[in-house]
Amino acid sequence: MIQHEFFDQNCFDKINEECGLFGIFKSDEDQSISVVTETYAALFGLQHRGQESAGITVNKNGEFKSVKDLGSVIEVLTPKTLSTLPEGKIAVGHVRYSPRGTVDRAGTQPLVMRYSKGLLAIAHNGAITNLMEIRSDLELGGAIFQSFSNAELIAYVIATERLKYATIEEAVSKTMDRLKGAYSIVLSTPNMLIGMRDPNGFRPLCIGKLGNSYMLSSESCVFESLGAEFIRDVEPGEIVFIDDNGLNSIRDHCGKKTSLCLFEYIYIARPDSVIDGMSVHMARRNAGRMLAEEYPVEADLVCGVPDSGIDAAQGYAEASGIPYGVALIKNKYVGRTFNRQNAENKDRLLKIKLNALAANVKDKRIIIIDDSIVRGSTCYHIVKMLREAGAKEVHMRISSPPFLHPCYFGTDIRSKDELIATKMTVEEIKNYIGADSLGYLSLENARKIASGVNIGFCDGCFSGVYPAPIPENEIDDRFSRKIMR
Ligand code: SF4
Repeated sequence: MIQHEFFDQNCFDKINEECGLFGIFKSDEDQSISVVTETYAALFGLQHRGQESAGITVNKNGEFKSVKDLGSVIEVLTPKTLSTLPEGKIAVGHVRYSPRGTVDRAGTQPLVMRYSKGLLAIAHNGAITNLMEIRSDLELGGAIFQSFSNAELIAYVIATERLKYATIEEAVSKTMDRLKGAYSIVLSTPNMLIGMRDPNGFRPLCIGKLGNSYMLSSESCVFESLGAEFIRDVEPGEIVFIDDNGLNSIRDHCGKKTSLCLFEYIYIARPDSVIDGMSVHMARRNAGRMLAEEYPVEADLVCGVPDSGIDAAQGYAEASGIPYGVALIKNKYVGRTFNRQNAENKDRLLKIKLNALAANVKDKRIIIIDDSIVRGSTCYHIVKMLREAGAKEVHMRISSPPFLHPCYFGTDIRSKDELIATKMTVEEIKNYIGADSLGYLSLENARKIASGVNIGFCDGCFSGVYPAPIPENEIDDRFSRKIMR
């Protein structure tokens, strides 16, 4: 009998992104703006990027006060905890997904550190691939770390570079010389908000403006919900400095080969975000259209697995001429606590989170589109659910290529052992999940879903070709399992 064992803590076997960032610098002309309220609202808009911890740090006249803890935004940032934050000029916010086994209070962000020039509050998204090397150097020089956190290491490097250089701008630029891998960072110094994006541009970071106040966010969808204007993306390799003189930037590290994570378009980002000039919704729709051309099948209805399969399903329906419809209803009110309480009974948990709409699927040939298959368990349960609801045929289509390799740049696929496509052929996976047919988007077409944008892509987890050096030895890999984002 086939065992369907693998689920993550959210019950869907998905790749998880590990952080969402936000920062605001309030202009003196915008006295009605509350940095606490704006940051709180922004973190709701970024909640999909991490539900394991949330936090806000407010900078008022160079003194920093934080509220942060394990839990989702609504669990951590309650009216009571928010009321302890002063109304300051700068705020930094963070939501985080923790890789399995590293749910730890010490890793909650923003991380606040005191150094020779005052305080730093830092929020990070990504994964530093030369972390162990830098850390060892610092430790040999006497540094003591409290955690394996990327954020702590980056703050430490900035603090040490600041001792050597006259300005924070130089220190942050020199820090960029030392860091390798994926990092988008939002940082508050006593009088400045700083944003930096690694030269590859693995993770998104963008700039918005509300009145005369600047904001930084992992995703542009946040600006719309705050009534702010989207200005532009932070360029790969760019460092932006925002203070009372406005926004300035250093572009010394720009112009290198770029590699935005392709999976941001496929699954991670919200469909109402625009990343590096491409609407995430349109990229997913393009994937669906191409999937219809690659894997056509006669059917009555095209449906998407909520949420990120829906846009691709619309594209598939458009290209195939088969009507689009709803097959699965997602319960949006099932939270993290409920997941943990019911973690033992995965089948029941999935049914509570996702229900087949029998009225739409009964006696029909269904094409169901999901964004990816990691371990196969969710697909198995979805196919089963649709059949139990009366579907005559279930054809699974996946709007990304098979995952065949680990990711070293900030998502939680660490080992080939976790990936079903490394162990089974497509035909075997089709049988494992119980579908009538299965088709993945080809790598060639996945590379085209956001064609026309002015940035290159990383597709390492699909192709095995990584655009930046990966940790070289076993020791690094073992340590990386303990590293907190
Ligand atoms: S390896 Fe995959 S998930 Fe990781 S950054 Fe590259 S495309 Fe994204």
